Amino acid sequence: MIPFVDLTAQFARIEQDVRRRMDAVLAHGKFIMGPEVAELERELAAFAGVEHCVSCASGTDALLLPLMALGVGPGDAVFTSPFTFIATAEVISLLGATPVFVDIDASFNIDPARLDLAIQAVKANDPSRHPLPRAKGQLTPKVVIPVDMFGLPADYVRCNAIAAAHGLHLLSDAAQSLGSEYTGRKAAAAARITATSFFPAKPLGCYGDGGAVFTSDADMAALCQSLRLHGKGGHKYDNVRIGINGRLDTLQAAVLLAKLPKRRAVARAYTGRMASIPGIRTPETPENSASAWAQYTLRHPRRDAIMDGLKARGVPSVIYYPRPLHLQTAFAPLGYAEGAFPTAEAASREVFSLPMHPYLSAADVDVICDAVADAAS
Ligand SMILES: *Cc1c(COP(=O)(O)O)cnc(C)c1O
Repeated sequence: MIPFVDLTAQFARIEQDVRRRMDAVLAHGKFIMGPEVAELERELAAFAGVEHCVSCASGTDALLLPLMALGVGPGDAVFTSPFTFIATAEVISLLGATPVFVDIDASFNIDPARLDLAIQAVKANDPSRHPLPRAKGQLTPKVVIPVDMFGLPADYVRCNAIAAAHGLHLLSDAAQSLGSEYTGRKAAAAARITATSFFPAKPLGCYGDGGAVFTSDADMAALCQSLRLHGKGGHKYDNVRIGINGRLDTLQAAVLLAKLPKRRAVARAYTGRMASIPGIRTPETPENSASAWAQYTLRHPRRDAIMDGLKARGVPSVIYYPRPLHLQTAFAPLGYAEGAFPTAEAASREVFSLPMHPYLSAADVDVICDAVADAAS
């Protein structure tokens, strides 16, 4: 049986490094904001090619902290994709702001042309131009959150230009894409503010919850540092703003320092084999991008039958995501109807993701590809 995410295989290869790093923390005992946290932040900032990395307790907090720093609240419209994990839009509602969903394109990422229309529609309060959420009174466009779905960077050239033209902030949800590339640079440098997650199954995972904010804006970094520590001012018991307990544990920083991702070869092997299977659509990667391959996600019009066939052959597969956010019960108050975002809805009906981790062997890739070919025939 091939596991979907094989953290045990990974641990077997890095066990010595992880144990050495964790033992050091157990010995010095600085479990909160110990020296490993600052070391990790320096390494990750250099890796991402940005000035500042602010680590935090989860990917969700990495989205929440910059939105708090930008003062997002009631009456603000925050534009994002309906084809993502709930956390992307949850933090918007948590702050009392309103998520405005914008449909995706074939890359599974937000469609820039529709983004522009959605911002215009909110400004003009005109739902004939773009499906708008139910909201009390006129909304003020404030932030755009593109999501790098399954590891592939969103179209930041166009999203940045559209956000700038309308005077909006742009926050990248890179929870799935740490290590990906965009226009020849690490994608974490493509937006002014980038949020990532170290949840165990993400491209760079710790052994619990963790996340980080990347930015080259010193003021934004300082605000996030304060907000993750209960709105800390000059010292620990000087609280100058309302914040959260959003720190990354020293032990998790130690685990992260012992790891780095390498998934590209597995994705290449999959695509080489999948291209010849009828009905299967392989992931699309624009020429100037390199995915972090958080997921290897295929499409097929008979998705459920294929997944049943895979299961019968001992190959696990998972649907990310079976229901777009605009059709989730939690967002029913926004009043979106089925059909509002047809591309996201079609993706939810057709996608399935295969086992994907850097230690998947060539033999396992063969077994999985044979099973997909069998199930599709
Ligand atoms: C995982 C994920 C998050 C949330 O990260 P956590 O570390 O689980 O809080 C946010 N957005 C996307 C797209 C994700 O995949």
